Amino acid sequence: MRSFCIHGHFYQPPREDPFAGVIPSEEGAKPFANFNEKINTECYRPNAELGNFEVLSFNLGPTLAAWLEGHDPPTYQRVVEADRRNRAAHGVGNALAQAHNHTILPLATRRDKETQIIWGMADFRHRFGREPLGMWLPEMAVDQETLEVLASQGVAFTLLSPHQARGQVDDAGPYRVRLPRGREIAVFFRDEALSNILAFDPELTNSAKDFVENCLSGAHGPGGEGLRLVATDGETFGHHHRGRERFLHDLVYEEAPRVGYEMTFLARYLQEHPPVAEVEIMDGTSWSCGHGVARWREGCTCTPGESRWKRPLRGALDRLAQEMDALYRDEVERWVVDPWQLRDGYIRVVLGEMKGRAFLAQQAAGKLTEGEARRTLTLLEAQYYRQAMYTSCGFFFEDLSRLEPRYLIAYAAKAIHLVKKATRISLEDGFKRDLRLAVSWITDQTGEDIYDDVTQGRF
Ligand SMILES: [Zn+2]
Repeated sequence: MRSFCIHGHFYQPPREDPFAGVIPSEEGAKPFANFNEKINTECYRPNAELGNFEVLSFNLGPTLAAWLEGHDPPTYQRVVEADRRNRAAHGVGNALAQAHNHTILPLATRRDKETQIIWGMADFRHRFGREPLGMWLPEMAVDQETLEVLASQGVAFTLLSPHQARGQVDDAGPYRVRLPRGREIAVFFRDEALSNILAFDPELTNSAKDFVENCLSGAHGPGGEGLRLVATDGETFGHHHRGRERFLHDLVYEEAPRVGYEMTFLARYLQEHPPVAEVEIMDGTSWSCGHGVARWREGCTCTPGESRWKRPLRGALDRLAQEMDALYRDEVERWVVDPWQLRDGYIRVVLGEMKGRAFLAQQAAGKLTEGEARRTLTLLEAQYYRQAMYTSCGFFFEDLSRLEPRYLIAYAAKAIHLVKKATRISLEDGFKRDLRLAVSWITDQTGEDIYDDVTQGRF
């Protein structure tokens, strides 16, 4: 019997002004106060109420999960419960973890890859009460080092697009990717054409019945074995295309099973079908276009206008990150064996599982002075914003003057503020000097202008 799986990537970036701690009013979201409220009403809540999360494979990004938990607890509970029910029925759940701050991992250092993956797994454990088996890679951006870190942390699988494989892959797999030191990871491949119809062709997704007749039957029918996998942004179902939560419900509960598909999810399919074939992955590729990860580094031709602001913005962030890391290491290496393990563990404080002081007491070799403890916790908080400043949507769009890059600069400014509080050393001048090289082709504002804006609450 042919199996069918729809994976939804449910995610929103953080929207809080890091200085004020609240979401500035977002004009475009009216009549809602902000986009989280709007998208929740159009997508997350109705999909949860219809029971769609139980039949999907899905990941719920940590920043969205935290917002949902605070602002719509019933919806949040329904999503968490969907995974628990599958676990009860099938032994494995249908939720996947996600790299914590939606960082483009191939562009990150090894240490940042580790932190992102370890934080993503800790967030998952905190919410779903179990170890994650699979992880969603932001923008499906991949390289071997990312897969190595996933495997070394115990992640069993991820999913990618066929063009990210070396050579031809004709089905969803799962395939085995061999990694150094005898490690391996399973990779599923989505049906790119079918995924793109769901995401970008509202004509063909007006009714689930028509969609199945056009795209999932006849020559594309359920004959034979194997898995058909589609993967797309979860917001497709209700937010990008209005009313598609109904379409999704009809598709997974009625129309696809009616023509002979068995609905499944990735962890369950992997359990029943371990990989037999092997594949190699192309480093520095992503799902959204053929330009690999260039879109988030120097820009690519998929966005209009001038992408020249991207490289200097990333350069400014990378330099700031290095300077911050040196100050952080100098402070903590006197009393902790591994500063980076300390950073990885700090997510438990972010999640509210432990108080900062208790965390330090657990990690420190000896007793810390009051000043050391205070400085360390402030520097760890700065490291949290240092991770958030790589949120991928800041580099995704066409111009520096948009809200998304402004947020990256705001997180960097918050990190700088905290570092100064802890060490009395200001990294501001150097960062602002670097930001001058990034210029909006629409407003002529430089990164430095935006820095001055966001530190005064102007988003
Ligand atoms: Zn491109």
